[in-house]
Amino acid sequence: MAAYTKQDVLDALLDPVLYKINIIFDTVVINGMGFGFVRSQIAAGNIEVVQGSSSANAYYNTGDDTLTTQDGPSPAPYWKKSLLIHECVHAMFDLYKYTTTGLTNELLCYITQVAYEIMSDARYKYSLDSSLAAGSNDAKWNKFWVDIETYVRGLGYDYTTNGGVVIVKDDAAFKGLRTQINGLNIYQHLTNTTNYSSDGICHQVYKTPWGTNVRLETSCP
Ligand SMILES: [Zn+2]
Repeated sequence: MAAYTKQDVLDALLDPVLYKINIIFDTVVINGMGFGFVRSQIAAGNIEVVQGSSSANAYYNTGDDTLTTQDGPSPAPYWKKSLLIHECVHAMFDLYKYTTTGLTNELLCYITQVAYEIMSDARYKYSLDSSLAAGSNDAKWNKFWVDIETYVRGLGYDYTTNGGVVIVKDDAAFKGLRTQINGLNIYQHLTNTTNYSSDGICHQVYKTPWGTNVRLETSCP
């Protein structure tokens, strides 16, 4: 298998299920319009899609406006698309210059990812796996997936959801999940005091006089 391409990301962003998501948090809205904006930036090449080498992880880099994809079969099944969509929420915040802490930024991406997955498949259901060694990374991830699913269903998302506005509050449940994220192996560097820099999309593709395209760093509009 190869890593997902720009076209795979563009295709994931057209999944109609995505357009049932309408999450308000603080001063930001995660919705179809935002996914449309991100899609245009990717289509234009201003946000560059880079094919990564990991089977499990994808990344969005706010500094160089690149989305690095994970491996998987194409066309992507929804659970693979969900990770690309997670990264596109990071990109949406960057585009909006919505700056919040690293942990809050991450949690909002997971909430969106899981809402999309719950609405994509009636069978989506995580259960606690008691065979995992207590305190292990696998056990922590398993508990996180169970808890965030419960939380997102509690917001009103299920397989039959048609849409509607969901307000996410910075309340005890949200803070609890944020703490859980901080305990996960790949997120221990994040804090709830240091901000993620969302500086805008600071690259743009230009056509040269001789007709080829070049992606240059710009001031961030
Ligand atoms: Zn993330």
